[in-house]
Amino acid sequence: MRNALVWSAVVSSCLLGVLVLLRGCAEQPTVQPTPQMGIESRFWVRVLLLNDVTECTIEVPSGFRIGPAGPDANAPMAEPAMKPLASPAKVRLADGRLVLDTIPLAGKEVVFSPETPHVFGLNGERWRGKLTLTVNPDGRSFDAVNQVPLEPYLAGVVGKEMDKDWTPAALQAQAIAARTYALFIKNRFGAKRHYDVRRTQASQVYGGVDAESPSVWDAVNRTCGRILVAPDLLLQDARPAAGIPGLFPAYYSSTCGGHTIHSEAVFGDSYGPLQGVPCPYCKDVARVRVFHWPMATFDRATVTERLSKKYPKLAALGEITDLAVAGESNHGSFSRLTKIRLTGATGKTDVLRGEDLRLTLDPSGREFKSTLCRIIAWGDGWAFASGRGWGHGVGMCQCGAEGMARRGHEVEAILGHYYPGAAIVNVY
Ligand SMILES: [Zn+2]
Repeated sequence: MRNALVWSAVVSSCLLGVLVLLRGCAEQPTVQPTPQMGIESRFWVRVLLLNDVTECTIEVPSGFRIGPAGPDANAPMAEPAMKPLASPAKVRLADGRLVLDTIPLAGKEVVFSPETPHVFGLNGERWRGKLTLTVNPDGRSFDAVNQVPLEPYLAGVVGKEMDKDWTPAALQAQAIAARTYALFIKNRFGAKRHYDVRRTQASQVYGGVDAESPSVWDAVNRTCGRILVAPDLLLQDARPAAGIPGLFPAYYSSTCGGHTIHSEAVFGDSYGPLQGVPCPYCKDVARVRVFHWPMATFDRATVTERLSKKYPKLAALGEITDLAVAGESNHGSFSRLTKIRLTGATGKTDVLRGEDLRLTLDPSGREFKSTLCRIIAWGDGWAFASGRGWGHGVGMCQCGAEGMARRGHEVEAILGHYYPGAAIVNVY
C-alpha cells in the first residue's frame, strides 16, 4: 500500500503538465458520439486507410472544405465551404495531380474537412474526422489518411478488437489499452511517416463509423482520456513522448492460452507492466478450437522459401533441415517457444524469435495461432502441436479480460492483472 501511495504521488507530480482539462470529454449521455474536433493535435491519430491507389470515391453528407495540408492540418480551414457530396464522387490522378470529379485539386497533399457531424465516406465506408490524400513521390498513386481525434478513433477500434456485446468492464479495459497503444505508436513512429497507425492488425483494427455501437461508445466515453502509464519509466523519461511520462506500448492479444509472456521475448523491448502473468480466465471465453488449436504443418520447402523471402540473410543456410527450441518460457504444464534455432543443409545455423517464425510461416495466424506449442518432426517438415491460444500473448488477454469481467471484476482490476504495476491516469 505504501508503495502504491508513493507511486501515486510520483504519477501525480509528473503528470501535472498533462492534467489540463481540454475539450475532450463532453458531459452527455455516454452512448452518444464524442466528436472531439477541438482537441489539440497531439491527441489526433492519422490512420492509413488506402495505400498506393490510383482512384477512390468520396462522399461527404455535410458541407466541407478542401485545403492544402499545412504544418497543422487539424486547424480550422479558411477556404469556402463546398456543397455536400451526397453521392460518391471519384478522385483520380491526372498528370500527377488529384482530380475530384472534374475539378483539379492544388498541391500534392489535400485535406478534406467535413463540417458537423464530421463524417465522410471513402470507397463506401464511413469515417469521422478529416481525410488527407497524398500523392506519392512518383506521381502515379496516392495514399488516403484519416485524421481523427483519439476518442472517435477508439470508437472504431473497440468494436473491431472485441465483441461489442461483451461485458462493459472488458470493453472499457479494451478502450484504455487501445488509447494507450495508439498514443505510444503515434509518438514512436509518427514523426517518420505521414501516418501514425494502420487500420489493420499491424497496429490495431479500426473500422470507423460502421464499427461503432452504443455499447462501444459507452466504453469509450466512460474511460474518456484515461491511459495506462508504467511507473518504472516515469523517472527515466526526461523528454516524455507527447508530454506523457511513463507511456508504454500496452500490447494486447486475443487469447493467451493460460499465461501471458514478457514483451522482450516477442518484441525485444522490456517494460515493467509487460512481464507476463498467469491467466486462468480465457479458457471460459475462447472457442474450444482456439484455446486448443489443431496441429499446423509446414513442409521443408515452404519453411525454407518463406523464411528466406522474409529474411534474405537466411538464404545462406540453404534448405532448412532442422528447427529446434533455443528458448522457451516455462509455465508448468505448457511453455511458449521464444527462440528457435534454424539449421540449414549447409550446416550453418541462425536463431529467430518464436513469434517471428510463426508470423513468417503463417502471416494470417489462422492456423499457426500462437507460439504456445511444441515443434515435432512431421513428414517432410514440421508440425506445431499441442497449441494453445491465439496471438502474440503480450499484455492484456482479450478473452481473459472478458472472463474476468464475467466474474464481476471491474476495469481497474482487469488492467491491474494484465499490466501489473501500471497506473491509470487521465491525459484530458
Ligand atoms: Zn488468457
